[in-house]
Amino acid sequence: MSNLIIPENPGIFINNKPLFIRKVRVVKKRMEMTIPFETSFGRFSSLSRLFPVIDFETEQGDVFTGTGECPPLDAPWYNYECHRTVEVALGYISSSLTGKPVDLNDGIVAPGNSPVTDIYSFINKYRWIVGHEIAKAGVEGAYWDAIAQMNSVPVSTLFGGTKKKVLAGTSVGLESTIDLFMKKIEHAVEGMKVARIKMKIKPGKDINYIEAVRKKYPEILLQVDANAAYDLFKPTDIALLKELDNYNLTMIEQPGRNDDIMDHSRQLAGLTTPICLDESILNVVHTRQAIELWEQSSDTKKLIINIKPPRVGGFLESLKIAQLCSNNGVSVWCGGMYESALGKTANVHFSSRIEVNLPGDHVSQAPYFKEDIAESPVYENGEITVPEGIGWGLRGSKL
Ligand SMILES: [Mg+2]
Repeated sequence: MSNLIIPENPGIFINNKPLFIRKVRVVKKRMEMTIPFETSFGRFSSLSRLFPVIDFETEQGDVFTGTGECPPLDAPWYNYECHRTVEVALGYISSSLTGKPVDLNDGIVAPGNSPVTDIYSFINKYRWIVGHEIAKAGVEGAYWDAIAQMNSVPVSTLFGGTKKKVLAGTSVGLESTIDLFMKKIEHAVEGMKVARIKMKIKPGKDINYIEAVRKKYPEILLQVDANAAYDLFKPTDIALLKELDNYNLTMIEQPGRNDDIMDHSRQLAGLTTPICLDESILNVVHTRQAIELWEQSSDTKKLIINIKPPRVGGFLESLKIAQLCSNNGVSVWCGGMYESALGKTANVHFSSRIEVNLPGDHVSQAPYFKEDIAESPVYENGEITVPEGIGWGLRGSKL
């Protein structure tokens, strides 16, 4: 039985007290990476992280300052957004929140600007902006942080999260040789004791690499991420994907085009391994469409969604996706986007919801950044403790 009605409130806290936005600013940090990020078009040794910071004032005059994070890449490689587009979009969002024209906006609220209450009234101020999900997610994060402070609770409580710990896996990139690659896998499995391994694959660097992992670790939870590297209408690519059924993988993530849902559902219906969608799910409507397509062509048990709050425009949308998936027997997990400690912590608060039932990309084999803006959440033996401090519960914040 399917339940395709999109939940309006996926079990989140509703704030009824009027809050006046006083000031909106963006702290931009250029962060040096410990290991440069390699792509097909270039190499990055640092990334810009943008932190929207918003002051909210209650009717009693108390001020709560909330902070969120926008974690774009430096070029439109993962999606169309990059640090340049996020900065432009934040200009429009800030203008919508302060009530000042975008070219005259100094981040200080205009006189007579109407207050916000619940998350819907907050998002309503900037929902006219099409797309720019990474920018919107950072701004929404600032709202939740402030509301949590106002109520003296961790953000996970506002999200309806009940788990004290969340399962944490890691993502392992390809290397030039299988030996080098296996060193990273061994470090993750034996050194870090992660709850599961996600490995990147592409045609020609798939079966041989997976075989090496399975030979050494026949039992470990293993999933693969293809980042749209396969052509779902090329018989040789389909044959390679079909062969992956022999390796007891938890899922094959986004093998086809980064904007496709339908071809994934039809062309791969013959596989027994579940298909996970990442890049092609930008909101809860896409999620409903995916569930309908899997119902028609195979089975919703063979659909998995990787929810990255920055990819889907924030936490409200992420929670709607998680609940809709759970109502239809679809598993979900939380992916990472090279977030700083703040963004990583926010993902852990989101993952404390019971519907997020598979291990997320919460730990990396080495810290992403030479100097982070705070301490990462506490990780031990495949689990991360959900911070219990007020707001995000960040330790040692240098923002
Ligand atoms: Mg992915």
